[in-house]
Amino acid sequence: MPLCAYVSGFLRSGIEGSRNGMRKTRVWAGLLGLGAAVVENVYFSDQGEVVVAARPRWSDRDLCGVCGQRCPGFDLGEGRRRWRALDLGEVKAFVEAQAPRVSCPEHGVVVCAVPWARHQSRFTRSFEDQVAWLAVHCSKSATAELMRVAWRTVGRIIERVVADTGRRADLLADLQRIGIDEISHRKGQRYITVVIDHDSGRLVWAARGRDRKTVFAFFDQLGEARCQEIRLVSADMAAWISGPVAERCPNAVLCIDAFHVVQGATEALDQVRRDVWNEARRAGQDQLAHRVKGARFALWKNPENLTVRQAGKLSEIQHTNRRLYRAYLLKEQLRQIYRLPAEAAIALLDRWISWARRCRLPSFVRLAKTITAQRPGIIAAIEHGLSNARVEAANTTIRLIARRAFGFHSAEALIALAKLTLSGLCPPLPGRVT
Ligand SMILES: [Zn+2]
Repeated sequence: MPLCAYVSGFLRSGIEGSRNGMRKTRVWAGLLGLGAAVVENVYFSDQGEVVVAARPRWSDRDLCGVCGQRCPGFDLGEGRRRWRALDLGEVKAFVEAQAPRVSCPEHGVVVCAVPWARHQSRFTRSFEDQVAWLAVHCSKSATAELMRVAWRTVGRIIERVVADTGRRADLLADLQRIGIDEISHRKGQRYITVVIDHDSGRLVWAARGRDRKTVFAFFDQLGEARCQEIRLVSADMAAWISGPVAERCPNAVLCIDAFHVVQGATEALDQVRRDVWNEARRAGQDQLAHRVKGARFALWKNPENLTVRQAGKLSEIQHTNRRLYRAYLLKEQLRQIYRLPAEAAIALLDRWISWARRCRLPSFVRLAKTITAQRPGIIAAIEHGLSNARVEAANTTIRLIARRAFGFHSAEALIALAKLTLSGLCPPLPGRVT
């Protein structure tokens, strides 16, 4: 039966006139995720959308929209308001209700809470939960197109969802081994700081900024007692992290993530490659310049993942450019350190440092200095058996999320998407709670 027939049937039988009417009320409330709210009317708008007029039941009225406490009424607010609900088949659907205001002793004059939507949202809770779930599991365009909302709107919705689901979860409980890192999230060097729990692999905290103040803000939130429980903090080689860690976490060992050490070597190698390429071009050695350019991925990739063609390019480099090949070996040997038992790894690290110091490649000489200065943290990571795979996986995922978050209006929306994906804050699809 077409939907409009149901709608008119519903209207004919009245709202409270019969048991049948009551049953239909429940059907509409169920369809739109209205819970125990009272359905007063259902009609088609001029635009052909289904509008379900509803009101909270008596016990759910006059609640502050922020804290949910019962408060004295203030006024009728701006009259009737609509909330976009999940589509009914092909048709857009809306919930319509009064939006009166109450006077809360704590939050002042605010619009009342409604059981079907989050505060200050123009969408129902089910609609928002579905958007959040899709944002985690589907592409940007699929999410926006299926839900008929702009990607920017998705950003605002998931911020509300995470604020809501985050209130019920204590992400900072039982932290002992954490990783602190930075992610750039837009051109123009804008950064967020993220904290990962090494034991669960979860993202437990994120905030805008990349400085001492941001790290202190995390420890403030964690609180003094929980700071004492932190046994290990891994990070890159930045002082803005190590300073606050030393100050606030007296029982923590600072480790340098293997990921960042190897990244330093990859960058040093790339510098050598660029130098060789530039020199070859300047000297008119076009063939060499071309070869070096073409070998970029072969140099970057881990040898075990090379294709036959890339392995060929690498062996070409070995024969035509000793400097670049030396840089490649330096990178690979540093990576090798993390595959050995602790004692052998430390011995190899020291051999690496003395080789890199004398290698006559300026970028590696610089890296050798940095690594010498950071040696205790690098060794601590090896001795504590800190799994690099997990840090690197979380890091890669957050970077992919940061790319997807292009088009969001704020860093907070990116943080929300990261928490939905990596903090276990993604709500189930509406009606699927198990
Ligand atoms: Zn309140």
